[in-house]
Amino acid sequence: MMKISSLGEFGLIDRIRRTAARDAKRVSIGIGDDAAALVLSSSSTLLATTDMLLEGVHFDLATTDLFSLGWKSAAVNLSDIAAMGGTPRFCLTALGIPSSLTVRDLEEFYRGLNACLKKFGAVLTGGDTCRSRTGLVISVSVLGEADKKRIITRSGARPGDLLFVTGTLGDSAAGLELLQRKAAAKGSVNRKLTEKHLRPVPRVTEGRKLAVAGIASSMIDVSDGLSSDLRHICEQSGVGAEVFIERIPLSKELRSVKGLKQPPVQYALSGGEDYELLFTAHPANTRKLDSLKIAATEIGIITGGGSVLLKDDRGRDRMLAATGYDHFRNSRRRGAVR
Ligand code: ADP
Ligand code: MG
Repeated sequence: MMKISSLGEFGLIDRIRRTAARDAKRVSIGIGDDAAALVLSSSSTLLATTDMLLEGVHFDLATTDLFSLGWKSAAVNLSDIAAMGGTPRFCLTALGIPSSLTVRDLEEFYRGLNACLKKFGAVLTGGDTCRSRTGLVISVSVLGEADKKRIITRSGARPGDLLFVTGTLGDSAAGLELLQRKAAAKGSVNRKLTEKHLRPVPRVTEGRKLAVAGIASSMIDVSDGLSSDLRHICEQSGVGAEVFIERIPLSKELRSVKGLKQPPVQYALSGGEDYELLFTAHPANTRKLDSLKIAATEIGIITGGGSVLLKDDRGRDRMLAATGYDHFRNSRRRGAVR
């Protein structure tokens, strides 16, 4: 019998994709992008995405408060709508609740979730509630809308396009390491890094601006780490990429915090959970991009062929292996949300 670990998370999803019936007329984008794009009428496209957060797999109640957990459960879904250039509208939540949780805990969870939805113009409209005999199980779905002609997929990158990322990378994974250290009563935390882990801000405004301006040729949100999410763009676009390691934006907090286990850039490459947007744009669009006033950094270029290379200042390069999170291959960390 074939083990799931030999396929990995993405090989497994591909198998699931092959079981799905085709409906090219109504399913404009199906399994394989950040959100599905579904045709309701000639003028209206629905975006749909869902994410699970499991206690002990994605989060640990020793390192997160319930408000933050609610916030993050919304944010990770809003981020997938942002990655398509869409506008989030509606949310559904399904919970499996262990008996250890109190009414107050759940109210805090929903206070956090609703605060995040409100900030980005979405509302809670339904869900399901059950008892869990194991840990807390959270399933959140978000529906949004988009102009069909403006949707940004993972598959539109072309050789010569420039590669950009919003904000900074690596803070969230470093923040998690600090939180885990603190939970083990070893060391202090840096608020900026732990905030980025506990309450990520989805780049909804930036994603929509890019879509409306028609600037980005492809886009994905960085949920699994730059190395893995860039590979999704490359594979789905049939291209390669070169990333200049010194250009990867790292916050000054990440660069200066003491006692991390790995060099700062490693958190950016394989840490994940940054929920920044990674996108490509034709060089002719650079000036237009500047005018949007989005905090984005040019970190590389799209190439022909399939290799993804990491280059340093001295012109040396190495293959950039996808070392980000895979639920079945390297589920090394507990307490991290994916
Ligand atoms: P993201 O990190 O952007 O949330 P995922 O890596 O979780 O994306 O999923 C990639 C694609 O596979 C998405 O289109 C998602 O909807 C789809 N997918 C993942 N798991 C399943 C599943 N069990 N059944 C159907 N589609 C799935
Ligand atoms: Mg995504």
